Amino acid sequence: MKPQDTALSLDTILSKPCRGQSLTAGQISFLLELSHPEQRAKLFRTARNLRHQYFGNEIFLYGFLYVSTYCRNDCTFCFFRRSNSTSPRYRKSIQQIVSAAVRLADAGVHLIDLTLGEDPALFDSPGDKFAHLVELVTAVSKATESVLMVSPGVMADHVLAQLGQAGTTWYACYQETHQRRLFDRLRPGQNFDTRLEAKVTAHRLGLLIEEGLLCGVGETTSDIVESMEVMRRLDADQIRVMNFVPQPQTPMAGHAPADPHKEMLIIAVMRLVFPDRLIPASLDVDGLSGLKSRLDAGANVVTSIVPPGRGLAGVARPDLDIDNGRRTTAAVQAVLKDCDLQPAGTAAYRAWTTRRRNMISGNGLGRKIA
Ligand code: SF4
Repeated sequence: MKPQDTALSLDTILSKPCRGQSLTAGQISFLLELSHPEQRAKLFRTARNLRHQYFGNEIFLYGFLYVSTYCRNDCTFCFFRRSNSTSPRYRKSIQQIVSAAVRLADAGVHLIDLTLGEDPALFDSPGDKFAHLVELVTAVSKATESVLMVSPGVMADHVLAQLGQAGTTWYACYQETHQRRLFDRLRPGQNFDTRLEAKVTAHRLGLLIEEGLLCGVGETTSDIVESMEVMRRLDADQIRVMNFVPQPQTPMAGHAPADPHKEMLIIAVMRLVFPDRLIPASLDVDGLSGLKSRLDAGANVVTSIVPPGRGLAGVARPDLDIDNGRRTTAAVQAVLKDCDLQPAGTAAYRAWTTRRRNMISGNGLGRKIA
């Protein structure tokens, strides 16, 4: 923190976003290191007030379908990494995914996220590699008329364009860290710049983008500040943080789990830095019992709602709360009610995405980010 920043009281820092002012890197860092419960409570209260200022008491709900758990990559933090022979592998058919997507849409989700690892069946196959993925997106879009997100790994420009034409609104591709050395440890053999540039391209093509970071993997406070700066330069429409969960049979199995409070702290600071953006509370880390604390920190999207009984996996905890029905819209709505929140109408979500798409198309995006 710079000397001039230390002179500011917490109250002064917290009042800045409410007056439409940006926080400095030093102030963001100061907030990320708050440890006193009363100070943290003040931060969370400010984050909730800002959420209310921009979104009222309405929350968006996202369904999650893990289409294929095969992956050609070997990320050290991931249960589904190529070399983990113990992780369950499946590849759902288009019919299976359409059926699960219809069920999610009928249950009232605002968006359906189609996620897959960099499945060798797509990435390493000869010919028109991604025709199957485009066909899947087309089929889900037609059957549900829902807003769609795809999270399929790093895509070439022309594939992103095809996915957009097929009905995708969102492209999610998490960097997880914006420190190159840490990136190389987390995602060995992958290219930092190519991954980042895919998001710039997606934005230029008119897709909304989600960027994410993983917390508790050896990053420093200044690394998190840097991640927020890159997210700002990307003009990401949705920004996500998730606490790292050590996965069995992976190189990071023995790594200490993340401080359970850190994710909430970062969510709250993200709300102050990006008050008008979408910030998820994921069910993937702590299940339904962890939802309230994430909403209390200022999140305005509930992600990873998964229909039970379909043999579908989550990511950070592959089977947590899925088959007991605790990752359904009904279960989530009960928690929202406890927090004096409610699901937004479908029209409100569509209006938000349309507004953002109109904004990015006028932004001249496509510049180099890092
Ligand atoms: S994080 Fe994604 S790209 Fe990396 S191994 Fe897991 S599924 Fe594959």
